[in-house]
Amino acid sequence: MSDDRKVELERLRDELKERLERYRAHRQHLGGPVDRDMEDQPLETRDDEVVASLEAEAEDELAQVRHALARIREGRGEICERCGEVIDAGRLAAVSHATLCRECRGD
Ligand SMILES: [Zn+2]
Repeated sequence: MSDDRKVELERLRDELKERLERYRAHRQHLGGPVDRDMEDQPLETRDDEVVASLEAEAEDELAQVRHALARIREGRGEICERCGEVIDAGRLAAVSHATLCRECRGD
């Protein structure tokens, strides 16, 4: 059970790393920061902003996945890091990178 979750998290981590590389390549392709005075490329600017927000999201998720993997390595992967209670299996199955129980998370 715990091993499955570790495998799932490692898969997710690799996927996120790949996704981040694609976002970064995309940004470099656009040639760095967009000049805000240039009004002739509104679509590219928008696209760039979307990619930047997707990139930030993927970075957050990757950090959370790495954090969860570190907790699993310490043998505390199923323990809520705030209250110390066991996180229920249903929640871990639904959110494999969870490190807080339902109550601490507030959902
Ligand atoms: Zn808790």
